[in-house]
Amino acid sequence: MATFIDPEDVDLIVIGSGQGGVPLAVERAKAGEHVVLFERGRIGGTCVNFGCTPSKAFLAAAHNAGRARAAAPLGIHADVRVDGVAAMERVRKVRDEWHDGSEKRVAAAGIDLIRASAAFTGERMVTGGDRTVRAPVVVIDTGTSPVLPQIDGLREVPYLTNLTWFEQPRLPERLVVIGGGYIGLELGQGARRLGSAVTIVHGAAHLMEREETDATGVVRQSLENDGVALELGTKATAVKRDGDTLLITLASGKTLEADALLVAAGRSANTPDLDLEKSNIACDARGYVDCDAYLQTTCPGVYALGDVAGQPAFTHVSWEDYRRLAATLAGKPRRRDDRILSYTTFTEPQLARTGLTEEQARAGGIDARSRTLQLADVARGTEWNLEAGFMRLVIDAGTDRIVGATFVGYEMGELIHTIGFAIELGATWHDLDRFMAIHPTFGEGLPSLARLFEKPA
Ligand SMILES: Cc1cc2nc3c(=O)[nH]c(=O)nc-3n(C[C@H](O)[C@H](O)[C@H](O)COP(=O)(O)OP(=O)(O)OC[C@H]3O[C@@H](n4cnc5c(N)ncnc54)[C@H](O)[C@@H]3O)c2cc1C
Repeated sequence: MATFIDPEDVDLIVIGSGQGGVPLAVERAKAGEHVVLFERGRIGGTCVNFGCTPSKAFLAAAHNAGRARAAAPLGIHADVRVDGVAAMERVRKVRDEWHDGSEKRVAAAGIDLIRASAAFTGERMVTGGDRTVRAPVVVIDTGTSPVLPQIDGLREVPYLTNLTWFEQPRLPERLVVIGGGYIGLELGQGARRLGSAVTIVHGAAHLMEREETDATGVVRQSLENDGVALELGTKATAVKRDGDTLLITLASGKTLEADALLVAAGRSANTPDLDLEKSNIACDARGYVDCDAYLQTTCPGVYALGDVAGQPAFTHVSWEDYRRLAATLAGKPRRRDDRILSYTTFTEPQLARTGLTEEQARAGGIDARSRTLQLADVARGTEWNLEAGFMRLVIDAGTDRIVGATFVGYEMGELIHTIGFAIELGATWHDLDRFMAIHPTFGEGLPSLARLFEKPA
């Protein structure tokens, strides 16, 4: 006989303390609502605890080491000594400060926090720990987890993912990274710059194969200059232990030896444990929550935001989802598809993107054109010996409006914002051309880049 559960009625339920869920919960609780937040792990979600925050603190150490070593052409010969233990301790300190801040925000807002894994037990009804709650609005913000690829023996050996990487007291002498996406490249290059011998194994022929090949080529060259070994177009098929050494067999027939193995081979949605069907919530074929332009799932009143909503997996997307959903819940509906996607891979050099590539624009029916300016042709690049990379601008030839850009080079994640903003304002390349930029900055290249549209390609 089924047991009848008498749920507590509350105003809002948020499952997962991710990047969108926490600010929404805080806002609504501060407005006087009874908000229940379920979290099964660390408050603050992936970004704060296992993603952006620790990885960027890690790269701060790594890239400073890399920059010091790269100063020889300037006449600076640095003898870089890495204190790996101190570097990793700082990473955890920065991470923990952010995590503690999230804990405090949640407590200060008066949120009813339930530290348990939650699942639906009825329509807009959720159970976790010893509590069952029901609300007119339920928000799923459960994020993603690392995928474990099919590699014989993987589960029998100690392997690392982003969940455990930052717990290492020091970095391994020999590291194999499975996956040449942005996580594998950032952590792989970082480890190399902090002293590990690193091999990155990637199934496709190009790193970050969804990006433009010449852009990833610049990153690849930098990795090779750092001494990262690349095994492209092959997969790890088996792994086993030989004493303290891991032996990783590749489809190419090669065997790699390592002291540690980092698996960064993609992410999957945290939906299997949620019993979504109990609330009539559908998923797509990949297991991400199906939701409409207003982030509403197939169950009225239940919304999803962030990674689990099957959109580009970035903190700023999840945070912007919160702003949109907050407006929608306040009776001023805002769609999720009215924003320009920008993102950066924080390797050195960085690969930064905004809007559409030329290929994406053409696929969308736009008569797209692009022009590219090499950083070697910008004063800042030559003066500071930061010539690796380029800026590419994409326009709609019908309107001359800017529709996208790819910037690859030193700290290009900063400069790409100007183009994202220009797209937001509907600017054309003529607007960019009119702008008087500061000499000698990389930004000085922007009007020069725009002027390239005056001439045939
Ligand atoms: C190594 C790494 C580096 C990254 N670097 C960047 C970067 O530089 N910039 C960037 O924009 N993005 C970066 N990201 C991506 C970014 O971290 C994510 O896009 C972002 O955290 C997604 O936020 P979210 O709101 O979807 O949920 P998440 O932050 O993933 O939070 C989901 C939360 O839900 C909880 N949860 C899951 N299931 C349940 C359940 N059933 N019950 C209760 N709680 C549950 C989880 O424990 C987790 O705390 C990085 C990711 C990784 C792994």
